[in-house]
Amino acid sequence: DNEVPWILGTQLTTQCGPLARSSDSSRVLLIEAHDFARRMPYHSQKLTLVFAAMRQFRDRLQADGYDVTYIQAETFKAGLSTFFEENPDTRLVTMRSPSYGSERRLRDIADDAGGEVRFVENELFVSTRAAFDGWAGDDEQFKHESFYRWMRRESGVLIDDGEPLGGEWNYDDENREFPPDSWEAPPVPTHDYDDSTTETAEWVSSTFDTWGSNELFNWPVTRAQALDQLEHFLTHRLPEFGPYQDAMRSEEWAMSHALLSGAVNIGLLHPMEVIAGVEDAYHNRPAVDLPSAEGCIRQLLGWREFMRHVYRHSMPELATANQLDATQALPELYWTGETAMNCLAETIDAVHSHGYSHHIQRLMVLANFATLWGVEPDQLNEWFHATYVDAYHWVTTPNVIEMGQYGHGVFATKPYVSSANYIDGMSDYCADCQYDPSVDTGETACPFNALYWDFLDRNESKLRSNHRMGLMYSHVDTKREAGELDDLGEQVDTFRVRAENNNL
Ligand code: SF4
Repeated sequence: DNEVPWILGTQLTTQCGPLARSSDSSRVLLIEAHDFARRMPYHSQKLTLVFAAMRQFRDRLQADGYDVTYIQAETFKAGLSTFFEENPDTRLVTMRSPSYGSERRLRDIADDAGGEVRFVENELFVSTRAAFDGWAGDDEQFKHESFYRWMRRESGVLIDDGEPLGGEWNYDDENREFPPDSWEAPPVPTHDYDDSTTETAEWVSSTFDTWGSNELFNWPVTRAQALDQLEHFLTHRLPEFGPYQDAMRSEEWAMSHALLSGAVNIGLLHPMEVIAGVEDAYHNRPAVDLPSAEGCIRQLLGWREFMRHVYRHSMPELATANQLDATQALPELYWTGETAMNCLAETIDAVHSHGYSHHIQRLMVLANFATLWGVEPDQLNEWFHATYVDAYHWVTTPNVIEMGQYGHGVFATKPYVSSANYIDGMSDYCADCQYDPSVDTGETACPFNALYWDFLDRNESKLRSNHRMGLMYSHVDTKREAGELDDLGEQVDTFRVRAENNNL
Protein backbone atom coordinates (compact mmCIF):
# COMPACT_ATOMS: atom_id res chain seq x y z
CA ASP A 1 0.00 0.00 0.00
CA ASN A 2 1.39 3.36 -1.02
CA GLU A 3 -0.12 5.40 1.77
CA VAL A 4 2.16 7.38 4.05
CA PRO A 5 1.13 8.91 7.41
CA TRP A 6 1.58 12.69 7.43
CA ILE A 7 2.03 13.89 11.00
CA LEU A 8 1.04 17.48 11.72
CA GLY A 9 2.93 19.48 14.33
CA THR A 10 0.05 19.21 16.80
CA GLN A 11 -0.24 15.42 16.44
CA LEU A 12 3.12 14.21 17.70
CA THR A 13 2.08 10.74 18.82
CA THR A 14 2.51 7.10 17.94
CA GLN A 15 -0.19 6.12 20.42
CA CYS A 16 -3.11 6.74 18.11
CA GLY A 17 -3.93 7.73 14.54
CA PRO A 18 -2.38 6.36 11.33
CA LEU A 19 1.05 5.98 12.89
CA ALA A 20 -0.30 3.69 15.61
CA ARG A 21 -1.54 1.35 12.89
CA SER A 22 1.60 1.39 10.75
CA SER A 23 4.66 -0.71 11.38
CA ASP A 24 7.74 0.79 12.96
CA SER A 25 9.67 0.41 9.72
CA SER A 26 7.08 2.36 7.77
CA ARG A 27 7.44 5.70 6.04
CA VAL A 28 6.33 8.91 7.76
CA LEU A 29 6.12 12.51 6.57
CA LEU A 30 6.50 15.65 8.67
CA ILE A 31 6.49 19.12 7.14
CA GLU A 32 7.89 21.95 9.21
CA ALA A 33 6.30 24.99 7.60
CA HIS A 34 7.56 28.39 8.69
CA ASP A 35 5.24 30.95 7.13
CA PHE A 36 2.60 30.87 9.87
CA ALA A 37 5.24 31.94 12.40
CA ARG A 38 5.80 35.18 10.48
CA ARG A 39 2.14 36.20 10.49
CA MET A 40 2.03 37.54 14.04
CA PRO A 41 4.38 38.20 16.96
CA TYR A 42 4.08 34.75 18.50
CA HIS A 43 5.56 34.05 21.89
CA SER A 44 9.06 32.72 21.30
CA GLN A 45 8.33 29.82 23.69
CA LYS A 46 5.29 28.81 21.67
CA LEU A 47 7.32 28.58 18.48
CA THR A 48 10.19 26.86 20.28
CA LEU A 49 7.78 24.31 21.72
CA VAL A 50 6.22 23.38 18.38
CA PHE A 51 9.42 23.31 16.33
CA ALA A 52 11.54 21.61 19.00
CA ALA A 53 8.87 18.98 19.65
CA MET A 54 8.56 18.24 15.91
CA ARG A 55 12.31 17.81 15.58
CA GLN A 56 12.47 15.62 18.69
CA PHE A 57 9.63 13.51 17.36
CA ARG A 58 11.47 13.09 14.05
CA ASP A 59 14.62 11.96 15.87
CA ARG A 60 12.71 9.51 18.03
CA LEU A 61 10.93 7.98 15.04
CA GLN A 62 14.23 7.62 13.21
CA ALA A 63 15.83 5.98 16.23
CA ASP A 64 12.88 3.57 16.35
CA GLY A 65 13.45 2.55 12.74
CA TYR A 66 10.84 4.58 10.86
CA ASP A 67 11.70 5.88 7.41
CA VAL A 68 11.10 9.59 8.10
CA THR A 69 10.84 12.30 5.47
CA TYR A 70 11.23 15.64 7.24
CA ILE A 71 10.74 18.66 5.01
CA GLN A 72 11.48 22.20 6.14
CA ALA A 73 9.67 24.65 3.88
CA GLU A 74 8.21 28.10 3.89
CA THR A 75 4.69 26.76 3.32
CA PHE A 76 2.81 23.47 3.40
CA LYS A 77 2.29 23.94 -0.30
CA ALA A 78 6.02 24.03 -0.98
CA GLY A 79 6.56 21.08 1.36
CA LEU A 80 3.86 18.98 -0.28
CA SER A 81 5.15 19.85 -3.78
CA THR A 82 8.58 18.58 -2.80
CA PHE A 83 7.11 15.42 -1.35
CA PHE A 84 4.85 14.57 -4.27
CA GLU A 85 7.58 15.31 -6.83
CA GLU A 86 9.75 12.73 -5.15
CA ASN A 87 6.88 10.32 -4.40
CA PRO A 88 4.47 10.61 -7.32
CA ASP A 89 2.50 7.44 -6.61
CA THR A 90 1.99 8.04 -2.94
CA ARG A 91 -1.11 9.09 -1.03
CA LEU A 92 -0.90 10.74 2.37
CA VAL A 93 -3.14 9.98 5.33
CA THR A 94 -3.50 12.36 8.25
CA MET A 95 -5.72 13.03 11.22
CA ARG A 96 -8.01 16.02 10.74
CA SER A 97 -6.75 19.14 12.44
CA PRO A 98 -9.44 20.77 14.61
CA SER A 99 -8.64 24.16 13.00
CA TYR A 100 -11.55 25.50 11.00
CA GLY A 101 -11.25 24.90 7.25
CA SER A 102 -7.92 23.11 7.51
CA GLU A 103 -9.13 19.92 5.83
CA ARG A 104 -10.36 21.81 2.78
CA ARG A 105 -7.27 23.99 2.67
CA LEU A 106 -4.83 21.10 2.92
CA ARG A 107 -6.81 19.07 0.40
CA ASP A 108 -6.64 21.95 -2.07
CA ILE A 109 -2.93 22.44 -1.47
CA ALA A 110 -2.27 18.74 -2.01
CA ASP A 111 -4.35 18.87 -5.14
CA ASP A 112 -2.28 21.78 -6.47
CA ALA A 113 0.86 19.86 -5.62
CA GLY A 114 -0.42 16.94 -7.70
CA GLY A 115 -1.15 14.60 -4.82
CA GLU A 116 -3.85 13.41 -2.51
CA VAL A 117 -4.45 13.36 1.24
CA ARG A 118 -6.93 11.10 3.03
CA PHE A 119 -8.28 12.57 6.25
CA VAL A 120 -9.24 10.40 9.20
CA GLU A 121 -10.79 11.08 12.61
CA ASN A 122 -8.61 13.02 15.02
CA GLU A 123 -8.04 10.49 17.80
CA LEU A 124 -6.29 12.99 20.05
CA PHE A 125 -9.64 13.78 21.65
CA VAL A 126 -11.74 11.60 23.91
CA SER A 127 -14.99 12.07 21.98
CA THR A 128 -15.61 11.76 18.27
CA ARG A 129 -17.45 14.27 16.12
CA ALA A 130 -20.22 11.73 15.48
CA ALA A 131 -20.61 11.04 19.20
CA PHE A 132 -21.01 14.72 20.03
CA ASP A 133 -23.40 15.29 17.14
CA GLY A 134 -25.47 12.31 18.26
CA TRP A 135 -25.56 13.68 21.80
CA ALA A 136 -26.49 17.20 20.65
CA GLY A 137 -29.21 16.07 18.24
CA ASP A 138 -31.05 19.07 16.80
CA ASP A 139 -30.31 21.21 19.81
CA GLU A 140 -27.97 24.06 18.89
CA GLN A 141 -27.93 25.53 22.39
CA PHE A 142 -25.25 23.34 23.93
CA LYS A 143 -24.91 23.07 27.69
CA HIS A 144 -21.54 22.14 29.11
CA GLU A 145 -22.92 20.65 32.30
CA SER A 146 -25.12 18.11 30.53
CA PHE A 147 -22.36 17.30 28.03
CA TYR A 148 -19.93 16.73 30.89
CA ARG A 149 -22.28 14.40 32.76
CA TRP A 150 -22.86 12.48 29.57
CA MET A 151 -19.10 12.18 29.02
CA ARG A 152 -18.59 10.97 32.58
CA ARG A 153 -21.24 8.28 32.12
CA GLU A 154 -19.96 7.27 28.67
CA SER A 155 -16.36 7.02 29.80
CA GLY A 156 -17.11 5.63 33.26
CA VAL A 157 -14.61 8.08 34.78
CA LEU A 158 -15.35 8.78 38.46
CA ILE A 159 -18.60 6.86 38.06
CA ASP A 160 -19.94 4.23 40.39
CA ASP A 161 -22.94 2.22 39.28
CA GLY A 162 -24.03 4.93 36.83
CA GLU A 163 -23.82 7.69 39.43
CA PRO A 164 -21.04 10.22 40.11
CA LEU A 165 -18.53 9.14 42.70
CA GLY A 166 -19.20 10.90 45.99
CA GLY A 167 -22.75 11.74 44.95
CA GLU A 168 -22.03 15.11 43.24
CA TRP A 169 -21.01 15.95 39.69
CA ASN A 170 -19.13 19.04 40.72
CA TYR A 171 -17.25 20.11 43.84
CA ASP A 172 -16.43 23.69 42.92
CA ASP A 173 -17.85 24.99 46.17
CA GLU A 174 -14.81 23.44 47.82
CA ASN A 175 -12.44 24.67 45.12
CA ARG A 176 -12.48 28.41 45.71
CA GLU A 177 -10.05 28.82 48.57
CA PHE A 178 -7.21 31.27 48.92
CA PRO A 179 -3.97 29.86 50.38
CA PRO A 180 -2.65 31.14 53.71
CA ASP A 181 0.45 33.36 53.68
CA SER A 182 2.61 30.45 54.80
CA TRP A 183 1.66 28.37 51.75
CA GLU A 184 4.24 27.89 49.03
CA ALA A 185 3.34 26.69 45.59
CA PRO A 186 4.77 23.26 44.76
CA PRO A 187 7.93 23.27 42.63
CA VAL A 188 7.61 23.62 38.87
CA PRO A 189 9.23 20.62 37.17
CA THR A 190 12.34 21.37 35.14
CA HIS A 191 13.60 19.61 32.04
CA ASP A 192 17.08 19.04 30.62
CA TYR A 193 17.28 19.92 26.97
CA ASP A 194 19.64 18.52 24.40
CA ASP A 195 21.51 20.56 21.77
CA SER A 196 18.69 20.16 19.28
CA THR A 197 16.21 21.99 21.51
CA THR A 198 18.68 24.64 22.63
CA GLU A 199 19.57 25.32 19.00
CA THR A 200 15.89 25.43 18.03
CA ALA A 201 15.26 28.07 20.71
CA GLU A 202 18.15 30.18 19.37
CA TRP A 203 16.99 29.69 15.80
CA VAL A 204 13.45 30.82 16.73
CA SER A 205 14.75 33.99 18.39
CA SER A 206 17.00 34.90 15.48
CA THR A 207 14.57 33.94 12.69
CA PHE A 208 11.17 35.26 13.76
CA ASP A 209 9.85 38.50 15.09
CA THR A 210 8.68 37.12 18.40
CA TRP A 211 7.13 38.38 21.62
CA GLY A 212 7.94 37.21 25.14
CA SER A 213 11.01 35.86 26.85
CA ASN A 214 12.73 32.71 25.65
CA GLU A 215 15.03 32.56 28.67
CA LEU A 216 12.75 30.64 31.00
CA PHE A 217 11.66 28.01 28.46
CA ASN A 218 10.67 24.99 30.51
CA TRP A 219 7.99 23.07 28.63
CA PRO A 220 8.10 19.37 27.77
CA VAL A 221 9.21 18.83 24.15
CA THR A 222 9.34 15.01 24.16
CA ARG A 223 6.91 12.36 25.25
CA ALA A 224 9.28 11.29 28.01
CA GLN A 225 9.38 14.85 29.36
CA ALA A 226 5.60 15.12 29.09
CA LEU A 227 5.19 11.88 31.06
CA ASP A 228 7.58 13.26 33.69
CA GLN A 229 5.53 16.44 33.88
CA LEU A 230 2.36 14.37 34.33
CA GLU A 231 3.90 12.28 37.10
CA HIS A 232 5.17 15.43 38.78
CA PHE A 233 1.69 16.92 38.66
CA LEU A 234 0.06 13.82 40.14
CA THR A 235 2.61 13.67 42.97
CA HIS A 236 3.27 17.29 43.85
CA ARG A 237 0.62 19.55 42.41
CA LEU A 238 -2.70 17.69 42.15
CA PRO A 239 -3.24 17.41 45.94
CA GLU A 240 -3.62 21.20 46.13
CA PHE A 241 -4.91 21.77 42.62
CA GLY A 242 -8.54 21.77 43.66
CA PRO A 243 -8.77 24.20 46.56
CA TYR A 244 -6.42 26.80 45.05
CA GLN A 245 -7.22 26.45 41.36
CA ASP A 246 -8.90 29.86 41.19
CA ALA A 247 -6.47 31.71 43.47
CA MET A 248 -3.91 34.21 42.12
CA ARG A 249 -0.76 35.14 43.97
CA SER A 250 2.04 37.48 42.96
CA GLU A 251 5.30 35.68 42.17
CA GLU A 252 3.42 32.36 41.81
CA TRP A 253 2.72 32.12 38.12
CA ALA A 254 1.92 28.39 38.15
CA MET A 255 0.19 27.92 41.53
CA SER A 256 -0.79 24.20 41.58
CA HIS A 257 -1.87 23.99 37.98
CA ALA A 258 -0.98 20.99 35.86
CA LEU A 259 1.08 22.82 33.19
CA LEU A 260 0.15 20.02 30.78
CA SER A 261 -2.07 21.85 28.28
CA GLY A 262 0.83 22.69 25.95
CA ALA A 263 1.90 19.02 25.81
CA VAL A 264 -1.65 17.71 25.37
CA ASN A 265 -2.42 20.19 22.59
CA ILE A 266 0.49 18.98 20.45
CA GLY A 267 -0.15 15.28 21.05
CA LEU A 268 2.70 14.46 23.45
CA LEU A 269 0.07 13.25 25.90
CA HIS A 270 -3.40 11.95 25.12
CA PRO A 271 -6.06 13.69 27.25
CA MET A 272 -7.30 10.25 28.36
CA GLU A 273 -3.85 9.44 29.76
CA VAL A 274 -4.05 12.49 31.98
CA ILE A 275 -7.65 11.74 32.97
CA ALA A 276 -6.79 8.12 33.80
CA GLY A 277 -3.72 9.26 35.74
CA VAL A 278 -5.79 11.67 37.82
CA GLU A 279 -8.52 9.09 38.45
CA ASP A 280 -5.93 6.55 39.49
CA ALA A 281 -4.27 9.09 41.78
CA TYR A 282 -7.60 9.74 43.46
CA HIS A 283 -8.05 6.02 44.17
CA ASN A 284 -4.47 5.23 45.15
CA ARG A 285 -2.84 8.34 46.60
CA PRO A 286 -4.33 9.47 49.90
CA ALA A 287 -3.26 13.09 49.37
CA VAL A 288 -5.57 13.47 46.36
CA ASP A 289 -9.17 14.21 47.27
CA LEU A 290 -12.26 14.09 45.10
CA PRO A 291 -12.69 17.86 44.59
CA SER A 292 -9.14 18.11 43.20
CA ALA A 293 -9.52 15.04 40.98
CA GLU A 294 -12.97 15.95 39.69
CA GLY A 295 -12.03 19.62 39.13
CA CYS A 296 -9.08 18.61 36.99
CA ILE A 297 -10.93 15.90 35.09
CA ARG A 298 -13.77 18.30 34.28
CA GLN A 299 -11.31 20.58 32.46
CA LEU A 300 -10.18 17.76 30.18
CA LEU A 301 -13.19 15.47 29.84
CA GLY A 302 -15.68 18.33 29.90
CA TRP A 303 -14.46 21.74 28.86
CA ARG A 304 -11.67 20.80 26.45
CA GLU A 305 -13.87 18.40 24.48
CA PHE A 306 -16.86 20.71 24.64
CA MET A 307 -14.95 23.71 23.30
CA ARG A 308 -13.61 21.72 20.39
CA HIS A 309 -17.14 20.76 19.33
CA VAL A 310 -18.65 24.19 19.98
CA TYR A 311 -15.95 25.66 17.77
CA ARG A 312 -16.68 23.13 15.03
CA HIS A 313 -20.39 23.93 15.14
CA SER A 314 -20.06 27.71 15.44
CA MET A 315 -17.42 28.52 12.86
CA PRO A 316 -16.91 30.58 10.81
CA GLU A 317 -19.37 32.99 12.53
CA LEU A 318 -17.73 32.56 15.92
CA ALA A 319 -14.39 34.06 14.88
CA THR A 320 -15.91 37.49 14.28
CA ALA A 321 -18.96 37.25 16.55
CA ASN A 322 -19.55 40.45 18.47
CA GLN A 323 -23.09 40.51 19.86
CA LEU A 324 -22.29 43.41 22.21
CA ASP A 325 -20.91 45.48 19.30
CA ALA A 326 -17.64 46.10 21.13
CA THR A 327 -15.37 48.23 18.97
CA GLN A 328 -12.42 49.35 21.13
CA ALA A 329 -8.89 48.39 20.14
CA LEU A 330 -6.98 46.10 22.48
CA PRO A 331 -5.07 48.46 24.81
CA GLU A 332 -1.35 48.54 24.11
CA LEU A 333 -0.66 47.47 27.70
CA TYR A 334 -1.53 43.85 26.77
CA TRP A 335 1.66 43.81 24.73
CA THR A 336 3.86 46.04 26.88
CA GLY A 337 2.65 45.00 30.34
CA GLU A 338 3.12 48.62 31.32
CA THR A 339 0.28 49.51 33.62
CA ALA A 340 -0.22 50.51 37.24
CA MET A 341 -3.05 47.95 37.47
CA ASN A 342 -1.19 45.31 39.40
CA CYS A 343 -3.47 42.39 38.47
CA LEU A 344 -2.90 43.02 34.76
CA ALA A 345 0.81 43.81 35.17
CA GLU A 346 1.44 40.58 37.13
CA THR A 347 -0.58 38.44 34.74
CA ILE A 348 0.94 39.88 31.58
CA ASP A 349 4.39 39.50 33.12
CA ALA A 350 3.67 35.77 33.67
CA VAL A 351 2.55 35.42 30.07
CA HIS A 352 5.62 37.27 28.83
CA SER A 353 7.94 35.09 30.95
CA HIS A 354 6.28 31.70 30.42
CA GLY A 355 3.66 31.88 27.66
CA TYR A 356 1.15 30.89 30.29
CA SER A 357 -1.22 32.01 33.02
CA HIS A 358 -3.95 29.98 34.63
CA HIS A 359 -7.64 29.94 33.77
CA ILE A 360 -8.83 32.58 36.26
CA GLN A 361 -6.14 35.05 35.19
CA ARG A 362 -7.26 34.44 31.61
CA LEU A 363 -10.97 34.77 32.34
CA MET A 364 -11.31 37.17 35.26
CA VAL A 365 -8.32 39.46 34.71
CA LEU A 366 -7.42 39.56 31.00
CA ALA A 367 -10.80 38.79 29.40
CA ASN A 368 -12.80 40.55 32.11
CA PHE A 369 -10.87 43.79 31.64
CA ALA A 370 -11.10 43.58 27.85
CA THR A 371 -14.85 42.95 28.01
CA LEU A 372 -15.42 45.86 30.40
CA TRP A 373 -13.22 48.05 28.21
CA GLY A 374 -15.30 47.11 25.15
CA VAL A 375 -12.49 45.47 23.17
CA GLU A 376 -13.49 43.91 19.87
CA PRO A 377 -13.48 40.16 20.75
CA ASP A 378 -11.42 39.08 17.75
CA GLN A 379 -8.53 41.33 18.84
CA LEU A 380 -8.27 39.65 22.23
CA ASN A 381 -8.58 36.22 20.61
CA GLU A 382 -5.60 36.95 18.37
CA TRP A 383 -3.61 38.20 21.35
CA PHE A 384 -4.22 34.93 23.22
CA HIS A 385 -3.48 32.94 20.08
CA ALA A 386 -0.10 34.63 19.74
CA THR A 387 1.01 34.67 23.35
CA TYR A 388 0.08 31.35 25.04
CA VAL A 389 2.01 28.13 24.53
CA ASP A 390 -1.22 26.11 24.61
CA ALA A 391 -3.32 28.39 22.38
CA TYR A 392 -4.78 27.15 19.10
CA HIS A 393 -7.76 28.72 17.41
CA TRP A 394 -10.07 25.79 18.15
CA VAL A 395 -9.50 26.33 21.85
CA THR A 396 -9.10 30.11 22.13
CA THR A 397 -11.94 31.13 19.84
CA PRO A 398 -14.79 29.70 21.96
CA ASN A 399 -12.96 30.43 25.21
CA VAL A 400 -12.12 34.03 24.41
CA ILE A 401 -14.84 35.22 22.07
CA GLU A 402 -17.79 33.45 23.65
CA MET A 403 -16.89 32.70 27.26
CA GLY A 404 -14.45 35.52 27.90
CA GLN A 405 -16.07 38.34 25.97
CA TYR A 406 -19.65 37.19 25.43
CA GLY A 407 -19.36 37.90 21.74
CA HIS A 408 -21.58 34.90 20.98
CA GLY A 409 -24.27 33.00 22.83
CA VAL A 410 -24.36 29.30 21.95
CA PHE A 411 -23.34 28.15 25.44
CA ALA A 412 -22.49 31.30 27.40
CA THR A 413 -25.60 32.53 29.15
CA LYS A 414 -24.16 35.78 30.50
CA PRO A 415 -20.95 37.79 30.37
CA TYR A 416 -18.27 36.82 32.88
CA VAL A 417 -17.66 40.32 34.20
CA SER A 418 -16.90 41.58 37.64
CA SER A 419 -15.69 44.67 39.45
CA ALA A 420 -12.50 44.73 41.54
CA ASN A 421 -14.31 42.79 44.22
CA TYR A 422 -13.73 39.40 42.63
CA ILE A 423 -10.01 40.00 41.96
CA ASP A 424 -9.53 41.34 45.47
CA GLY A 425 -11.15 38.23 46.91
CA MET A 426 -9.19 35.71 44.85
CA SER A 427 -5.75 37.37 44.72
CA ASP A 428 -3.15 39.31 46.64
CA TYR A 429 -2.74 41.74 43.75
CA CYS A 430 -4.79 44.62 45.17
CA ALA A 431 -2.66 44.98 48.30
CA ASP A 432 0.31 46.05 46.14
CA CYS A 433 -1.64 48.15 43.67
CA GLN A 434 -1.60 51.89 43.32
CA TYR A 435 -5.38 51.67 42.81
CA ASP A 436 -7.85 50.93 45.57
CA PRO A 437 -10.34 48.10 44.88
CA SER A 438 -12.95 49.65 47.18
CA VAL A 439 -12.97 53.05 45.46
CA ASP A 440 -15.15 53.79 42.41
CA THR A 441 -14.23 57.35 41.43
CA GLY A 442 -11.35 59.74 41.96
CA GLU A 443 -7.57 59.52 41.82
CA THR A 444 -7.21 56.12 43.54
CA ALA A 445 -10.28 54.47 41.98
CA CYS A 446 -9.72 50.97 40.61
CA PRO A 447 -10.54 51.00 36.88
CA PHE A 448 -12.43 47.71 37.14
CA ASN A 449 -15.15 49.40 39.21
CA ALA A 450 -16.23 52.33 37.05
CA LEU A 451 -15.72 50.21 33.94
CA TYR A 452 -18.01 47.54 35.38
CA TRP A 453 -20.90 49.93 35.97
CA ASP A 454 -20.29 51.67 32.66
CA PHE A 455 -20.33 48.27 30.90
CA LEU A 456 -23.70 47.39 32.41
CA ASP A 457 -25.08 50.83 31.63
CA ARG A 458 -23.75 50.81 28.06
CA ASN A 459 -25.12 47.33 27.29
CA GLU A 460 -28.40 47.64 29.14
CA SER A 461 -30.62 47.15 26.10
CA LYS A 462 -28.91 43.84 25.35
CA LEU A 463 -28.41 42.48 28.86
CA ARG A 464 -31.19 43.72 31.11
CA SER A 465 -33.77 41.16 29.96
CA ASN A 466 -31.33 38.31 30.76
CA HIS A 467 -32.71 36.84 33.96
CA ARG A 468 -29.20 35.87 35.08
CA MET A 469 -28.33 39.59 35.08
CA GLY A 470 -31.26 40.60 37.28
CA LEU A 471 -29.27 41.12 40.45
CA MET A 472 -26.61 43.15 38.66
CA TYR A 473 -29.24 45.46 37.16
CA SER A 474 -30.94 45.98 40.50
CA HIS A 475 -27.60 47.44 41.65
CA VAL A 476 -27.44 49.55 38.48
CA ASP A 477 -30.89 50.91 39.36
CA THR A 478 -29.70 51.85 42.83
CA LYS A 479 -26.65 53.66 41.39
CA ARG A 480 -28.83 55.42 38.84
CA GLU A 481 -31.33 56.61 41.44
CA ALA A 482 -28.46 57.93 43.55
CA GLY A 483 -27.19 59.86 40.50
CA GLU A 484 -23.86 57.99 40.51
CA LEU A 485 -23.84 56.64 36.97
CA ASP A 486 -22.82 59.96 35.40
CA ASP A 487 -19.82 60.26 37.68
CA LEU A 488 -18.83 56.69 36.89
CA GLY A 489 -19.13 57.43 33.17
CA GLU A 490 -16.84 60.44 33.53
CA GLN A 491 -14.38 58.33 35.46
CA VAL A 492 -14.29 55.89 32.55
CA ASP A 493 -13.57 58.78 30.16
CA THR A 494 -10.58 59.65 32.34
CA PHE A 495 -9.33 56.08 32.14
CA ARG A 496 -9.66 56.06 28.37
CA VAL A 497 -7.56 59.21 28.05
CA ARG A 498 -4.96 57.71 30.38
CA ALA A 499 -4.85 54.52 28.31
CA GLU A 500 -4.23 56.59 25.17
CA ASN A 501 -1.25 58.13 26.94
CA ASN A 502 -0.07 54.68 28.12
CA ASN A 503 -0.66 55.82 31.65
CA LEU A 504 -3.36 53.53 33.01
FE1 SF4 B 1 -6.48 45.15 39.76
FE2 SF4 B 1 -8.01 47.09 40.77
FE3 SF4 B 1 -6.97 45.27 42.37
FE4 SF4 B 1 -5.40 47.09 41.23
S1 SF4 B 1 -7.04 47.48 42.72
S2 SF4 B 1 -4.97 44.91 41.40
S3 SF4 B 1 -6.39 47.32 39.24
S4 SF4 B 1 -8.46 44.90 40.76
